[in-house]
Amino acid sequence: MRELKPIKIVTPPLAANCYLILDEKSALIDCGGDTKFILNALSRYMEPKDLDYLILTHSHFDHAAAAGDLKELGCKILMHKDEYALVKAQGFTSIFFNVKFKPFKPDFELKGGEIIELGDVVLEVIHTPGHSPGSICLYDENKKWLFSGDTVFAYGAFGRVDLPGGDAKALVKSIEKLSELDVENLYPGHEDVIEGNAKASILEALSIVKMIF
Ligand SMILES: [Zn+2]
Repeated sequence: MRELKPIKIVTPPLAANCYLILDEKSALIDCGGDTKFILNALSRYMEPKDLDYLILTHSHFDHAAAAGDLKELGCKILMHKDEYALVKAQGFTSIFFNVKFKPFKPDFELKGGEIIELGDVVLEVIHTPGHSPGSICLYDENKKWLFSGDTVFAYGAFGRVDLPGGDAKALVKSIEKLSELDVENLYPGHEDVIEGNAKASILEALSIVKMIF
């Protein structure tokens, strides 16, 4: 059997990384902001209408603006309840970037602690506020994979906290929480993936974030 790996899809308009997992169930982690682009990318690997889950790490338009269109194809949307509250309160508009996107309702409002079983891949939802109030990370304990959204990136980088709902102190606590995990591979919401000893990258982010905030 071919080793199952997340398929990285870099999406417009701000080069957000989305990850497609093709297991017994299929899941897309974030979808970017361009519906045509993501549908075209998905169709290289599967029938887009067969996608089971769209899991949103957070609601920023560069990660989530195509969600309303994808939901119409039939996938279930999972996102944190605080993030849905934020995007609803903002009327599905990114005030900061002046972008409006199609409203949608998540099928599952997450709190953190849920387990999403895709087959071989089993993802635990970790609530990691800071970059946004309902940011989540997804952790596979057996594979030691962490999908980190915009909370933490490769090489000790971490998410900005100056957007609506951002919270520097919460970000420090969230990265502290992540630093306790055993992580081999890091799949962040932008830039490079780290394969092998990704925990070092998270520890580096923790030391820098503590210096700054
Ligand atoms: Zn973001």
